[in-house]
Amino acid sequence: MSALGKMKTALNKTDPQIYNFVKAEEKRLKDVLEIIPSENYISQAVKEALGSALNIKYSEGYPKKRYYQGNEVVDNVEILAQERAKKLFGVPHANVQPYSGSPANTAVYLALLEPLKDKIMGMGLGAGGHLTHGSPVSISGKYFPTAPYHLGKDGRIDYDELEKIAMKEKPKIIVCGGTAIPRIIDFKRFGEIADKVGAYLLADISHITGLIIAGVHPDPVAYVHVIMTTTHKTLRGPRGAILMVTEKGLAKDPQLADKIDKAVFPGLQGGPHDNQTAAIAVALLEASKPSFKKYGAQIVKNCKKLAEELIGYGFNLVSGGTDNHLILIDLSNKKVNGAIAALALEVAGIVTNKNAVPNDPMPPFYPSGLRIGTPAVTSRGMKEGEMIKVAKWINIVIEEVRGNELPVDKEKRSQFWREFKNRIVRNKKLLAIASEVKTFCSKFPLP
Ligand SMILES: *Cc1c(COP(=O)(O)O)cnc(C)c1O
Repeated sequence: MSALGKMKTALNKTDPQIYNFVKAEEKRLKDVLEIIPSENYISQAVKEALGSALNIKYSEGYPKKRYYQGNEVVDNVEILAQERAKKLFGVPHANVQPYSGSPANTAVYLALLEPLKDKIMGMGLGAGGHLTHGSPVSISGKYFPTAPYHLGKDGRIDYDELEKIAMKEKPKIIVCGGTAIPRIIDFKRFGEIADKVGAYLLADISHITGLIIAGVHPDPVAYVHVIMTTTHKTLRGPRGAILMVTEKGLAKDPQLADKIDKAVFPGLQGGPHDNQTAAIAVALLEASKPSFKKYGAQIVKNCKKLAEELIGYGFNLVSGGTDNHLILIDLSNKKVNGAIAALALEVAGIVTNKNAVPNDPMPPFYPSGLRIGTPAVTSRGMKEGEMIKVAKWINIVIEEVRGNELPVDKEKRSQFWREFKNRIVRNKKLLAIASEVKTFCSKFPLP
């Protein structure tokens, strides 16, 4: 029996409740079309590293400079992860310790900004930025002044407006990247603007790392000072993040790497999760293979095909389409709210997430849009032909719930939502699609 098999048996014996939840989640993942653009499947190798003996050790500090004894093995693991990250991205410095993307971005601010004084200029949440790019509900917006930028009428970044805001607001750091950006990010232009105002430039490439590695999205390395990527999205690794400093970053600030390292530990975190570091190293190795280039290119091909088909069904895509792994649908013309659509799709076995669209008049719990993407279905081996079916199902589901408009009145809206939830989970048409989806998905095994 494999080590993994034994582990499951032990879990089943010790805690059948959790064991059953794990099994239920494995089944769910198999049976549904997972098209949330920030999610992906991991390989068995990544999983094995994650569930390994490397979970035990305390290793505060960095390789060869630890505060605990017994770190020879862990040092090797962390050095290997660093080396692989540096080589794959072409950077002189990598920190693989951040627990996840949010603490990684926070560490950058801690390293470079003075609280309540230095300004963060990131993309507004409604425009597709991340919470940690200066949203007022996040520590990034609570502890630092912010100057958000937004999108132009065409649903794309308006770089001229961005430059004007930067000139006026004089941010200490500009953040580019986001969570709902369907278009190529012009890192070169961002670099010119940051240089003009003397700001640090942080590229948060969490969503598009895999595409950059595959060469199907421009590379930020030459233009930015710091790069943050999560490791669990298009990179197909464990939850986690990597912070990197570029040559340009070191030229601007020779202390930059040191500042970032000190901010991660001891500034923000304690002991690194060495099992996570090992799993990141495995994911980086997998991403350095030629097959990963094909994978990244296929993600984009699938997404473009899906977009084309959806446009054919009259869907209104923010910015009119996609250049990457992600599609943002504005459902206003379909007379369906994003929350209603996402729930109905889930009943039909298609897992997406509701999302705000630029200048959304609706509150975040009931946004007007839907965010979808192709990284996970591409990991299962789906290609353009499969995307035609996916689009068809999406259209049938949306047509089924078209006209279920949310009342404006808050009280009535909550009541409508509760009633809708009860009703939609029993919808025969949607349940029939869920069963078709399940059969369809069974032909594409998980990695
Ligand atoms: C996912 C994401 C993050 C945060 O990552 P967590 O691991 O969820 O904390 C930060 N920035 C961007 C652009 C992301 O997409």
